[in-house]
Amino acid sequence: MSDDDPETTRNDGDVEGTRTAGFSTNFESPDIADEDSNQGLFDDLLSGEPIFENKEVLRPSYTPHELPHRSDQINKMATILVAALRGETPSNILIYGKTGTGKTASAKFVSKELESTSQKYSVPCDVEYINCEVTDTQYRVLAQLANKFIEKNKQRIDDRLDTLDSLLLALEEYDESAPDRSGGGQPELFTDVDSEKSDPTATGDGTGVERDGSPAETGGSFGGGESDKHDRQPDHPLESTPFTTRAEVETRIESLEADRDSFEEVPMTGWPTDRVYSVFFDAVDYDERVVVIMLDEIDKLVEKSGDDTLYNLSRMNSELENSRVSIIGISNDLKFTDFLDPRVKSSLGEEEIVFPPYDANQLRDILQHRSDVAFKGDALSDDVIPLCAAFAAQEHGDARRALDLLRTAGELAERAQSETIVEEHVRKAQDKIELDRVVEVVRTLPTQSKLVLFAIILLEKNGVHSINTGEVFNIYKRLCEEIDADILTQRRVTDLISELDMLGIVNAVVVSKGRYGRTKEISLSVPLDETEAVLLSDSRLSDIDDVQPFVQARFEN
Ligand code: ADP
Ligand code: MG
Repeated sequence: MSDDDPETTRNDGDVEGTRTAGFSTNFESPDIADEDSNQGLFDDLLSGEPIFENKEVLRPSYTPHELPHRSDQINKMATILVAALRGETPSNILIYGKTGTGKTASAKFVSKELESTSQKYSVPCDVEYINCEVTDTQYRVLAQLANKFIEKNKQRIDDRLDTLDSLLLALEEYDESAPDRSGGGQPELFTDVDSEKSDPTATGDGTGVERDGSPAETGGSFGGGESDKHDRQPDHPLESTPFTTRAEVETRIESLEADRDSFEEVPMTGWPTDRVYSVFFDAVDYDERVVVIMLDEIDKLVEKSGDDTLYNLSRMNSELENSRVSIIGISNDLKFTDFLDPRVKSSLGEEEIVFPPYDANQLRDILQHRSDVAFKGDALSDDVIPLCAAFAAQEHGDARRALDLLRTAGELAERAQSETIVEEHVRKAQDKIELDRVVEVVRTLPTQSKLVLFAIILLEKNGVHSINTGEVFNIYKRLCEEIDADILTQRRVTDLISELDMLGIVNAVVVSKGRYGRTKEISLSVPLDETEAVLLSDSRLSDIDDVQPFVQARFEN
């Protein structure tokens, strides 16, 4: 702040000014701020931000506005769903493709567009998104849907009540402004047009009143025909509403309030499932509308709880009176349809949309789009995006992996206080992501698998090469005894080793030993020290302190 700054000058000794400018004046004034009050721990980090402009754009939670290379899939979805905007029931859709091929992002994009268009044209259409990896039982899916629709119904009721309240208010004002008119009941005009008015219960939204906007503001316009009798009078507030008398409005308000109070939210556990279903059904059918239910990771739901949910949802339309339901199922794996009841399978798969893996060029485009917003001008060296795209293309064309790589490379560059991201950061990011994956897989292994893996690690640490199943089993047994765990049979341990192989944690190859038959040779395919550290962070395994004797045991057998 310079000396001739008007703010400072005015505030000097000015009690009033100091009070209003207060905090910021003191804070900024070099006279008062103690220059040694901090040692600049954060200053350098704050000022040196050469890499990211907006890191959020690279996170999985961010929904991009543009999805390059997905216009075919997006257009196909839109072509099917546009039926909802015509008040018809769209076909059910099954979407499938490997992880990171843009299924969730595209489906969310389309549903946002659908909802906003339905608002634009006042067509009642609701989209509900459920991630079945999180919500993975029939009870939870139905309860979540029931509660969402109850919430929506309450919101609509409140909106209608607001409109009706202002209608009552307008009626009062109208009567007060012309007491002579209010004396003899309803003016003739409005009883005459009764027959032309729609039945209040037959309108799409159940009130029909919002069509005339704010009734209080319609004064000054003149109706034709008979309204000439009431020369220069404002339109009656009930004109072009479905109501003819104040009493009708009041009755409608009461019935809406009763509806609102009758909704009972479903608790997250405890009810019989058919009760949850019936609450959900009634909530959906409360209003005339088309409902699109999007079930993401639908294979997880079927895997965990069978196809009952899908069966119930897909037969709803034959019983709904006011609304229609259409389902979009999204899956990483088409095989799950083998486990479906044939009726469910054909109903769900009315339309199928495939999301193929991206190739390296497409991944480049996707990264380029995001990086324009995510990074500062010169932060990226030229080879970074192609390299991220190439790595992710090897990983079955996974855009999530590509974005993770780019973000992690940026973070590594930032941490190294580098001005730009270079190829080396991408390679390090690739190693880091791979290691993170291993750590997560190992951390969530069941205890028995951890013990088997620990046995393999102990053998490797002691320089044993070409480890065989028998050796692993012997060490494993000792480890189990040490921590009081059940000891599985050698056959089961062999199975667990195969599972570890499939997870990419160990490598088990069958080798022929000539006339001694065939045996498995096992080796670790992940970094030893890090993996051991993860295992020892499990409280049960951390009790094993002196491991040397177990390894010795190998030679005693
Ligand atoms: P899926 O659901 O198929 O596993 P997502 O839709 O979650 O994949 O996509 C993974 C990540 O990649 C998300 O961050 C998403 O925004 C991004 N993504 C996928 N496809 C595209 C695309 N065509 N354009 C821009 N970003 C994309
Ligand atoms: Mg997804």
